[in-house]
Amino acid sequence: MESIIIIGTGCAGLTAAIYAARANLAPLVIEGLQPGGQLTTTSEVENYPGFAQGVDGYELTQHMRQQATRFGTRFQRDEVSNLTLEADGVKGVHLADGGILRAQSVIVASGASPRFLGVPGEKTFYGGKGVTTCATCDGAFYKDQVVVVLGGGDSACEEALFLTRFCKKVVIIHRRDALKASKIMAQRVLAHEKISVFWNKKVTQILGDQKVHSIAFEDVLSGELSVFACTGVFVAIGHVPNTQPFKSLLPCDEHGYLLALSGSAVVTRVPGVFVAGDCSDHVYRQAITAAGMGCQAAMEAEKYLSNI
Ligand code: NDP
Repeated sequence: MESIIIIGTGCAGLTAAIYAARANLAPLVIEGLQPGGQLTTTSEVENYPGFAQGVDGYELTQHMRQQATRFGTRFQRDEVSNLTLEADGVKGVHLADGGILRAQSVIVASGASPRFLGVPGEKTFYGGKGVTTCATCDGAFYKDQVVVVLGGGDSACEEALFLTRFCKKVVIIHRRDALKASKIMAQRVLAHEKISVFWNKKVTQILGDQKVHSIAFEDVLSGELSVFACTGVFVAIGHVPNTQPFKSLLPCDEHGYLLALSGSAVVTRVPGVFVAGDCSDHVYRQAITAAGMGCQAAMEAEKYLSNI
């Protein structure tokens, strides 16, 4: 049996691993389908303290992983399907392949995944056919082309700015008349000569043959329908927490975020089970806040383990 299993390898999970490993708990980290979490699909991270010139998101998680490994963290690639409580407070971590791991304590740091619009064409052209959720991964495929970015938050702005490195023109399609993004990001976007914003537009369909060739949308004020020619659609409308496997054991809010006990960000109602990062935080959702929660969760786990 393990002392501690950490589920997730984003900022929260890796920070928890660094702290747990330095406490000699030899944590086992389960890494899912997207090791490294959302930061690996971000380009430059400018607001993580300690990097005056910014740092590449992928590089940052690689450093965290090496740091965790250095102190004795072990990694296992698997998908978690369920978390249960067994006799004597033992936690069962059920794997999608039918296996089960047992631990005295568990930190759930399973992160969040990109949200999709759910309009016709989105699924059809997702993955190499024109619809994507990651400019860092796919931007270079759209060199000198016209692309659209959907959304109005920091993610949409960041994607749009990144895409200007390759694309001829970047159009943000947003359902409101103002960006939700932070002021500095919004200012950069609005001042950029390659970026335009179509305000108050609701996307109704993504059109194409083998690949995307255009996008259809409706003006939310006038109801007017339009079609715009583009070869890439970057969906950046937020995220949904990856919490399905934990819902039978842990309570969630109405959006599916795992709930901690009041008075703590990481302690749950199940003794020995802790939460950290974007799977339980829909307010801050930053790399640094996820890392902070990972640290808290590991310290709480250490306290729990020394008392049982
Ligand atoms: P947000 O939730 O902040 O923004 C999502 C955007 O998508 C909103 O503008 C929203 O519109 C729009 N949207 C949501 N659902 C739909 C829909 N069904 N149809 C059309 N539009 C939709 O998510 P982000 O991913 O942008 O950001 C999440 C968090 O991560 C934030 O805290 C952000 O600050 C942070 N972040 C920070 C970065 C940085 O600092 N470098 C980079 C990226 C993210 P509406 O405005 O109408 O709600």
